[in-house]
Amino acid sequence: MEVRRTVPVKLDVTDSDAALLHDTIDQFRDAANYVVRHARDDDGYVITSKRRLHDRTYEDVREATDLHANLVQAARSRAAEALKSVVAKWKRGKKASLPRFTSPFLEYDQRSATFNDDHASLSTVGGRITAEYVLPGENHDTPHSQYLLSEDYETTGATLHYREPAGEFYLHVRTKADVDAPEPPENGTVLGVDLGVKNIAVTSTGVFWSGDELNHWHREYEKRRASMQQKGTRSAHEAMKRVGETETGRFEQLFHRVANGIVREAVEGGCSHIAFEDLTGIRDRMPGAKRLHEWAFRRLYEYVAYRAKERGVAVKQVDPQYTSQRCSRTGCGFTHPDNRPSQDSFCCQKCGYKVHADYNAAKNVGFKILRSLHKSSDGDAPVGVRINTGTLNTSGFTTAPDSVRVGVHGESPAL
Ligand SMILES: [Zn+2]
Repeated sequence: MEVRRTVPVKLDVTDSDAALLHDTIDQFRDAANYVVRHARDDDGYVITSKRRLHDRTYEDVREATDLHANLVQAARSRAAEALKSVVAKWKRGKKASLPRFTSPFLEYDQRSATFNDDHASLSTVGGRITAEYVLPGENHDTPHSQYLLSEDYETTGATLHYREPAGEFYLHVRTKADVDAPEPPENGTVLGVDLGVKNIAVTSTGVFWSGDELNHWHREYEKRRASMQQKGTRSAHEAMKRVGETETGRFEQLFHRVANGIVREAVEGGCSHIAFEDLTGIRDRMPGAKRLHEWAFRRLYEYVAYRAKERGVAVKQVDPQYTSQRCSRTGCGFTHPDNRPSQDSFCCQKCGYKVHADYNAAKNVGFKILRSLHKSSDGDAPVGVRINTGTLNTSGFTTAPDSVRVGVHGESPAL
């Protein structure tokens, strides 16, 4: 199975090299737009074949620009792809105008650039320049260490982007690897995940990821935004935009960390499925959730889905109704609003089961998907929900796991 990953890397370049990159981006954009302008044949039909577009434009673009031959070809390919999607729209009876390239980017391949562990050598209209990577510190969970610096992943090319207003160049480096697709475990089990404001994620195995970091940063940034907004100057406006970008970057790193942890928990527990509650309308049904949280849950879900796939684990969303009110204790299942005396605690009014509310919900999320998979089963449905004392099956029996979790007692984390 081929796995492809794109890793964004900030570049450190001198002012004169930055000027060269700007010129190169401008000429690349001109080249792509030139190809589009010359894409109509004598009968007025739009040509989308790369070969034919090449024959019509290559010599002219080489003549008119200082671009490396491979950048000329990359501009033509980019134009051809954009033309193809416009023609496809026309064929579906939709209106669309011919593409026009305006955003600051360009495409490098292995002939117009060389990619190293900590820097890239990039072709520009003024010859090759060296651009150092600005890499995060030693951390095994960053995409840089996982893909960019990995022996298993091969770099195939990159897109150079100029980000305004920060005025920074980023390389989105494309990598690929051939990995053995792991077989999903036989008699697989489900890992349930509950999302929340106080705890950003809790698994049915009882692992908690606190939302403190997210909520703290959010408050800090809001404060800084408010004070900068009061100043109201142009530079304050620019500073606000920068704060927004720093915030996004920090959060993305947090989501990567949590997502990796969830996937690790699923793999170590031999799970074939990870179950989340349906994200549609999550902000409305979750007390205290802000727009930030809704965005966070979506990103987190995307990261988990992305990472789980390469481990052979399926990720699904499930209707969240009653997952917070239902008793998840084996053989009980009593569902009532009074089971939830406070935000954090669950206490079953029928059997007296006392447990952290988020952990109870995570088990129910897993249990729900287990039942829905059994209904549509072709015989391969997972048999249980992975909890921290074993497996909970559809008949409500808990069986001891054959894993390290044997002997772990008291499935309730501290209330
Ligand atoms: Zn109960």
